[in-house]
Amino acid sequence: KPVIILVVGMAGSGKTTFMNRLVYHTQASNLHGYVMNLDPAVMTLPFGANIDIRDTVRYKEVMKQYNLGPNGGILTSLNLFATKFDEVISVIERRADQLDYVLVDTPGQIEIFTWSASGAIITEAFASTFPTVITYVVDTPRSTSPVTFMSNMLYACSILYKTRLPLVLAFNKIDVAQHQFALEWMEDFEAFQAAVSSDHSYMASLSQSLSLALDEFYKNLRSVGVSAVSGAGMDAFFKAIGASAEEYMETYKADLDKRK
Ligand code: GDP
Ligand code: MG
Repeated sequence: KPVIILVVGMAGSGKTTFMNRLVYHTQASNLHGYVMNLDPAVMTLPFGANIDIRDTVRYKEVMKQYNLGPNGGILTSLNLFATKFDEVISVIERRADQLDYVLVDTPGQIEIFTWSASGAIITEAFASTFPTVITYVVDTPRSTSPVTFMSNMLYACSILYKTRLPLVLAFNKIDVAQHQFALEWMEDFEAFQAAVSSDHSYMASLSQSLSLALDEFYKNLRSVGVSAVSGAGMDAFFKAIGASAEEYMETYKADLDKRK
């Protein structure tokens, strides 16, 4: 059975570029990937998608027809697509024997996927059928400030607890900035507090109080540094995906079976 890799992250974190890298890596490693685009508003994709939401819903038309702005158009397009998601699952099930991974790109604006009913429906449809792992892409150069870093980690944390699926933090763009600082902050909350201590803003003191609470969250995930552009970190990434898929079997899947 294939492992589903759901790629989420803030707009501009590099999800689509990272997807392209994953497609390239699987092809170069003789692994069979099935590629899916769930961003209705993307203009051009650097990779070929086996399933593309844009083939089913025309986001510009949806905006016109329902009198919506860009975000409403994207959300409504995703809702329309989610109503047919059982068909998508069947398509993958039919090919399951030949597939190693299903790679899924999500809309640029993170909340459209992670805070919508359709995002939840799609995630659960995957997770109730296949081992599913969330990949949270972080823009590493833009997270070097402790406060931005904390916002990103809180978002990832909320996704982890909402979906209960294994999560891999992919610190992207390490060709621009190494992610060592992030690992240090996650391993040692005193290091994070030291970094934030020179800042006396309200957000800084909030971040400081939260760092201890997030300790438990950090223990529940895997982190890797990657570069979608240079291809650095791919082996470590797929190792983390493998371990996460095992975790899915031991926790999520075991839980599903119990509820049946
Ligand atoms: P998305 O909105 O999350 O899908 O982000 P995109 O994949 O569209 O990337 C946003 C910007 O970040 C683009 O200009 C990419 O070229 C750039 N980018 C993505 N990954 C990397 C990376 O690993 N290194 C560098 N230097 N730039 C990257
Ligand atoms: Mg994108």
